[in-house]
Amino acid sequence: MIQRSDRLHNVSYELRGPVYEKAKELELQGHKVTNLNIGNPAPFGFNAPQAVLQQIVENLSLAQGYSDHKGLLSAREAVKTYYEKAGVAHIHVDDIFLGNGLSELIMQSVQALVNNGDEMLVPSPDYPLWTAAVNFSGGKAVHYLCDEASDWYPDVADIKSKITSKTRAIVIINPNNPTGAVYSKDILTEIVALAEEHELIIFSDEIYDKILYDGVEHIPTATLSDSAVCITMSGLSKNYLAAGFRAGWMLISGAKSKAADYIDGLNTLASLRVCSNVPAQYAIQVALEGVPSVQDLVLPTGRLGKQRNACYEKLTAIPGITCVKPMGAFYMFPKIDAKRFDVHNDQQLVLDLLAAQHVFVVQGSGFNWHKPDHFRIVYLPEVEVLDKTIDKLSLFFSTYKQA
Ligand code: PLP
Repeated sequence: MIQRSDRLHNVSYELRGPVYEKAKELELQGHKVTNLNIGNPAPFGFNAPQAVLQQIVENLSLAQGYSDHKGLLSAREAVKTYYEKAGVAHIHVDDIFLGNGLSELIMQSVQALVNNGDEMLVPSPDYPLWTAAVNFSGGKAVHYLCDEASDWYPDVADIKSKITSKTRAIVIINPNNPTGAVYSKDILTEIVALAEEHELIIFSDEIYDKILYDGVEHIPTATLSDSAVCITMSGLSKNYLAAGFRAGWMLISGAKSKAADYIDGLNTLASLRVCSNVPAQYAIQVALEGVPSVQDLVLPTGRLGKQRNACYEKLTAIPGITCVKPMGAFYMFPKIDAKRFDVHNDQQLVLDLLAAQHVFVVQGSGFNWHKPDHFRIVYLPEVEVLDKTIDKLSLFFSTYKQA
């Protein structure tokens, strides 16, 4: 028997796990499944800005060779200018790395840091690649709680209580996937102060920083500290609706001199994979120099704004389902009332929903949530489709096992 490596034992990605396989099986049998498992805008009719597409096409012949392992200078300069304008100080293009999506940079940045047994603080719930990356690297993902009763804000007391001599870093996902929370300056400042005190690297995953509702402001964590090492991470997948191009970036700022050896390690890992997809790198400059992307879509009259409001109204009208209204991204993380329903196994619940109604959502435990009483829904479909889909959820819960 050929076995997987031990490093993979605590590694999973339920967005494409066993329930995904079941959904594909149903589709192969000819059923129409509504796939609300992954935040991939294109299949729902969203298009990347025309200028982004054009830039890739126009530069295709120039993109035949490898680029520098950190990425095209023009793209990295655009990233630098973008974050300088947002208020991040002392940025150098050498501290910017481009990747095949942010996913690759998450893996590389954790692998370059973590030794066996090292701990990283990761939110619960989280975007599960973070937990997977830490565990795969031989580290231990220690989950700090985000508090549903406080708009899903991180529980700072819980973070404090989980810092040990082995803690190397803290992950902040803002705007958050899966909860849709957008953090205030106060809460970010408290977390940054802890990172400074305990010399933790901050990984700030800000890949949804333009998908904001009701006028809420996004504050880049890196603007709040000069003395912590902060790695700001983003990309084109969500803000520019171009997930398939696989274009992401990370920017190291703050007390970089304290992290010179780590940054050298990042450089080695980046060079080992030679470079990221070059055609997509050409899109970064034009995107960051201000092409309109999601700005209109997130307005109450825009497509995403309407879908978010409709999804929230319909979902929370289901008896036994409650939800914090998301302020960013395109997900909701509703709670299933455990007093009303028998919710001991959330994977079984989403499998039951898939079998009964052909709707595919992901169980909360897939986002490292500690109780089987949540699921995540993607609200990328048009309002009419969402309406029909949530009617199916409502029907499902009306007959689901009572507690
Ligand atoms: N971070 C978060 C919070 C995400 O939700 C995602 C994708 O869903 C990623 C990172 C990875 O994005 P990509 O690899 O497409 O850039």
